Amino acid sequence: MAGETDGMWSWHDTHNCSRLINVSGTMTSLGGSITSPAVQEETTAIMGEFVNMHELQAHASRAICDLTGAEAGCVTASASAGISLAIAASMTGLNPGRVEALPKDPGEKNEVVVQLGHLCGYGAPVSQAVDLTGATVRPVGQSTHVMDYQLESALNEKTAAALYVVSHHVVHYGQIPFARFVEICHRANVPVIVDAASEYDLTGFIDQGADIVIYSGHKFLGGPTSGLIAGRRDLVRAAYLQNMGIGRGMKVGKESIAGAIAALRQWQKRDHEGIRRQERAALELWQKTLSAFAGIDPVIVPDPTGNPLERLQVNVDARKLGASAATVARALGEQEPRLIVRNHEVELGYFQLDPCNLKPGQAELAAEILAKVCAEAGKLEERADDYHAARNGGVDPYLNWLS
Ligand SMILES: *Cc1c(COP(=O)(O)O)cnc(C)c1O
Repeated sequence: MAGETDGMWSWHDTHNCSRLINVSGTMTSLGGSITSPAVQEETTAIMGEFVNMHELQAHASRAICDLTGAEAGCVTASASAGISLAIAASMTGLNPGRVEALPKDPGEKNEVVVQLGHLCGYGAPVSQAVDLTGATVRPVGQSTHVMDYQLESALNEKTAAALYVVSHHVVHYGQIPFARFVEICHRANVPVIVDAASEYDLTGFIDQGADIVIYSGHKFLGGPTSGLIAGRRDLVRAAYLQNMGIGRGMKVGKESIAGAIAALRQWQKRDHEGIRRQERAALELWQKTLSAFAGIDPVIVPDPTGNPLERLQVNVDARKLGASAATVARALGEQEPRLIVRNHEVELGYFQLDPCNLKPGQAELAAEILAKVCAEAGKLEERADDYHAARNGGVDPYLNWLS
């Protein structure tokens, strides 16, 4: 098969890990991102050095401020860690005694307000990132409808912060728009912490008044596994202080800080238009390939939270094709190499293909695999649990690990 001769799989073969092509997005289960040579050089270079970590984090702060317009920033182990540390910051301020008291003694300000429709999961429940601090999540409204008065009446002297989650995983209608959310919270003197882990917009939330915004370093930024906190100087400093407390078990290494700084610097120089054109070419190749099959309707769709990227939505008419979206997605993941698609909405009759992070030759190889599996779709064994397996997909690899 194509790609065998050009060294595409030499790392996987040497290390006895299965060959795979990721068309699902930047997934933790697949190692987050692949990083550029410049990022790799910086992570490698620092491994042989001692360094004053406070100084290194101050450099990271400047790199984060340059891109976000924030007053201050720091690097964390992950966006999820960033949420816990930012919430903790809103509870403790710059008091090290309070930092050490968490999570057992959460103090007087110990409630975190979140719209019910924002209580999603990203591989772990976002509510648990709050729970780790000792704070109590206070859900607001109903899952698909939140009114201003419901938020207003949830804010009181016990409120430490309000959390706003931006994600394709949250409910997409009936939620309070961001600017209004900030307006209501600020009227009650409550800081707004934004989980924007997967968002390209590095300035918009801060421009609209966010007190803290959290990004993943290992999603679109293409850094090593890391998170970024950006926002108000007092809160960022208090979040950093959590490294003496609950943050210790979420320690970020020097290599991730150096890599995140390099990724931020590269983001400014990246040829965003050129990358977009390459991604578009991959989508059109897959669309053309899949259009040949009766029962498949491939449509290019925009990102649900408005990120500047598109995906190919592969709508499957199971009766015409002879296999359901869930079965086709599962079969693609069993090829050699495995083609890992975005399958978290297969119950709606489709899966999606994400063109980010493809290596040279992989778009063509993915098209070959898609054509091969779709041509044999009628012969695919429809397993009774394909559908539920996709929904429960994240759990089994953990449960079965070393079993
Ligand atoms: C990915 C994601 C996270 C978790 O990010 P990590 O950096 O992997 O911890 C949190 N929130 C949202 C909305 C995400 O998409």
